[in-house]
Amino acid sequence: MRLPDGHRPVTEEVILGDCFRCDRGALQVVRVGELVGPRGEAPLYACRACTERLTAMHHHTHETPVRPYAAADAPTDPR
Ligand SMILES: [Zn+2]
Repeated sequence: MRLPDGHRPVTEEVILGDCFRCDRGALQVVRVGELVGPRGEAPLYACRACTERLTAMHHHTHETPVRPYAAADAPTDPR
């Protein structure tokens, strides 16, 4: 699976599973990250539509950041 602008999911291995975002099951999904907590971590898998939506949200956040920390190169507060 190839994402817009050359971005790629965490892994390109496609498996059959559940999508963490839309809750549909038995879909082709790719690992897009993990949920990390004090007791460990759980892998997050997303279907193609949700992966593309998450990628679009990522691009939108960097183009029009609501919070300065959303952009890696955002200027720091001069105070
Ligand atoms: Zn989905």
